[in-house]
Amino acid sequence: MSDSIKYVLDESRMPRTWYNLAADLPGPPPPVLHPGTLKPVGPDDLAPLFPMSLILQEVSTERAIEIPEPVRDVYRQWRPTPLYRARRLEHALQTPARIYYKYEGVSPAGSHKPNTAVAQAFFNREAGVKKIATETGAGQWGSSLAFAGALFGIEILVFMVRVSYDQKPYRRAFMEIFGARCVPSPSNETNFGRQVLAATPNSNGSLGIAISEAVEVAATRDDTKYALGSVLNHVLLHQTIIGQEALAQLEMANDYPDIVVGCTGGGSNFAGIAFPFIGEKLRRGRDVRILAIEPSACPSLTRGKYAYDFGDTGHMTPLVKMHTLGSAFMPPGFHAGGLRYHGMAPMVSHVKELGLIDARAYPQVSCFEAGVTFARAEGIVPAPEANHAVRGAIDEAIRCREEGVSRAILFNLCGHGHFDMQAYTDYFAGKLTDHAYDEGELAMALSGLPSVPSAV
Ligand SMILES: *Cc1c(COP(=O)(O)O)cnc(C)c1O
Repeated sequence: MSDSIKYVLDESRMPRTWYNLAADLPGPPPPVLHPGTLKPVGPDDLAPLFPMSLILQEVSTERAIEIPEPVRDVYRQWRPTPLYRARRLEHALQTPARIYYKYEGVSPAGSHKPNTAVAQAFFNREAGVKKIATETGAGQWGSSLAFAGALFGIEILVFMVRVSYDQKPYRRAFMEIFGARCVPSPSNETNFGRQVLAATPNSNGSLGIAISEAVEVAATRDDTKYALGSVLNHVLLHQTIIGQEALAQLEMANDYPDIVVGCTGGGSNFAGIAFPFIGEKLRRGRDVRILAIEPSACPSLTRGKYAYDFGDTGHMTPLVKMHTLGSAFMPPGFHAGGLRYHGMAPMVSHVKELGLIDARAYPQVSCFEAGVTFARAEGIVPAPEANHAVRGAIDEAIRCREEGVSRAILFNLCGHGHFDMQAYTDYFAGKLTDHAYDEGELAMALSGLPSVPSAV
């Protein structure tokens, strides 16, 4: 049996620009709309929430956007991240497939999220921002922004989804080490939080609720901006360093993927690995199949409706066209907290509509099974979210075995699971179950979508 191979990219080859897929698409995604006027929002509408530099990235159609040198300096602490050929996993699966994974768990927070947290904190600092309010699901984003805030001298307030706050106390400690304040959401600190608590005192919370709370704080305080860890174009943009590095590393391996796999919550780590490959396909005709894997308990891409919806439960955000389960949809409390969002990034939704990617949904138990198989072969414990990508990659590798063909499969191992031992404990105790979401609740959430005339 061969050992796994690690492809290390020299620091000097770390990308100097982020890749903007919007430059290569046949057309732009549908515009973001103001919920009152139903007219496209302009940069000024977003100015209370974000610094102008990030708003301009949000709407940019320039292909290459420069990564500022201070951001690259921070990146160099853990980037370029390694790309591995998973030879021991291939052996365990008895597959002729060539499996590669890009490992983002080597970052300070243990996931891909610092790639954008550091960039966002930098651009906010450049704009003179002193405080940022944000939300976090599993705690990865809150941890990442806490770390980045400490580096750039910005105070961070994190609304953490209640169920994760209770399941992952160490994430809160992690944020506090970096000086951030972390409160469970729904909280008593905002009008919207108080409203939710009055209606459902035992609310598990959701990303949609936590976003509303953070946006409310940013919108009502002059000294505070808002930051989002996924979904938005500029966030996906910052993550494209992952796929660009992978392209260079696969060149070192003298290989090119037939299939690229990523898990999707809001879509950012998936976009990070996939968009540069979609760009290669569009510009140079290099064929590749791109596969997004989501939890079947929160299946926005496979079961959601492609429609205009709010990004949050309290309806404070603009309307974006995306695959959505409805902003009132409350996913069951499964363990991949980072994948419990009702919508999908508009850019990921757009490329799905264009037929450039496929999507598949898996129940959590089979994902943990895949994660454990992976860990035993490769020695890395994946985050519960990442287990979805592992499941997708393993299934493709098994298909190669059954069909007797060798394909190259690349997946994004977007984070480690060192803070997620409770989830693994539950899995080994047989306590992990596959909750189906409530069909009636989904229908109701979808019936509550805002009505937007199709002409816009
Ligand atoms: C946040 C997170 C996700 C989900 O967010 P995306 O924007 O879809 O990437 C997935 N995996 C990990 C490890 C995360 O921290």
